[in-house]
Amino acid sequence: MIVCKFGGTSVASAEQIKKVANIVKSNPERKIVAVSAPGKRSSDDIKVTDLLIDLANTVMMKGNVEEKIRAVVNRYRDIADELGLDNLISDIIEQDIRGRVAEDYTNKEIFLDNIKASGEDNNAKLIACYFNAIGMAAKYVSPKDRLILNDIPERTYALPEAYENLSVLKDTEEIIVFPGFFGYTKEGILRTFDRGGSDITGSILASAVGADLYENFTDVDCVFAANPKVVNDPVDIKEISYREMRELSYAGFSVFHDEALMPVYKQGIPVNIKNTNNPTAPGTRILPTRTQSNRPVTGISADSGFSILYVSKYLMNREVGFGRKLLQIIEEENISYEHTPSGLDDISVIMRSSQLTPEIEKRIMHRVKNELCADDVQFSHNFSMIVIVGEGMRHNTGLAARAAAAISGTGANIEMINQGSSEVSLVFGVRSEFENQILKGLYEEFFAAIPTA
Ligand code: ASP
Repeated sequence: MIVCKFGGTSVASAEQIKKVANIVKSNPERKIVAVSAPGKRSSDDIKVTDLLIDLANTVMMKGNVEEKIRAVVNRYRDIADELGLDNLISDIIEQDIRGRVAEDYTNKEIFLDNIKASGEDNNAKLIACYFNAIGMAAKYVSPKDRLILNDIPERTYALPEAYENLSVLKDTEEIIVFPGFFGYTKEGILRTFDRGGSDITGSILASAVGADLYENFTDVDCVFAANPKVVNDPVDIKEISYREMRELSYAGFSVFHDEALMPVYKQGIPVNIKNTNNPTAPGTRILPTRTQSNRPVTGISADSGFSILYVSKYLMNREVGFGRKLLQIIEEENISYEHTPSGLDDISVIMRSSQLTPEIEKRIMHRVKNELCADDVQFSHNFSMIVIVGEGMRHNTGLAARAAAAISGTGANIEMINQGSSEVSLVFGVRSEFENQILKGLYEEFFAAIPTA
């Protein structure tokens, strides 16, 4: 059995949904289909999820909502009309959205999640309706009472019972159309995953039914070795291991959500990233292990928006518990950290800047100075992390030296180097203004000279 997930641009219009139907029809093993909300139809279009967020905020600010409701409903009506469906499905969708808008918004987060999730929920109903209309036996299946989530809004994940509940879907005769992006807590409260979270739903479904393959349909032929917006015509990645993909998607490879790997990884289910607009292209396969190529590096990615907390104290290395106390201060501010490179007398803690405010920084610096008696404590901002990833890196000597030389060739200074113990990745912290030129320099060093594997 194959579980497929179709992203926003794959289900953005009637024309795209017809392509989805053809893809599903062309292989009877494609039995479970997870769908996103309608995405952008062109580069200047607005995703339905963004329209819904705007709608929810307008309701909560007691603004004029009618026009915003119409904008969302019309997206579905246009699709349904063009697919030749009767008004019933559009009326059901309109009623659903109006019902959600009329709900109580005392708890803003719950209200917002409920409105946001309607994007995928209504699209799944519409697509199931279309499949049936063209003779493909299909049914919409709700995540309610099935995809059970924990109850920590900022860190949503599926509980073991979700996999148990969803496992029965493997015996389905009809094609199941399942909305991505959300589930329910045990108490029946709807919660969404992070943006792009329909990838996670697809992965949970694939794992629950023990699928042979998880196909993730998007709008590119494959994953590239570097960001094509920065590097000219980068090579495509045909095969990549879970570990490599995890490291790359952490730092800016937005093709596949980084949290979506875990459910399939646990079961060793291969993932195939494919293009709805070119379904015969082989795409990129994410596998437990991959055949080695002649390249030590598989991909290079970069992400900005990092801050560094620098702490120094003479004889820090001799002080038992210093690191733990420092990290505890950060934990008590509810901040997660990414790396902690250290020297004898100093340590840096690298974290996403979005978690910080001037007040939080002030509190942390005050506590580190006073409670840990540090000599120097400073925050600096505007850093990027550049990640070089490749299973082949372990077996290659001098790779770090080559990377460092390529970076220095661009005139940029390396602020931090971190090589994880798995040796699958090498991370460089640099000032964000150098990010693009470093990416180009590293790509040139590791890819430009070697023919495609
Ligand atoms: N529609 C949601 C978003 O725009 C989730 C998804 O498409 O995966 O983030």
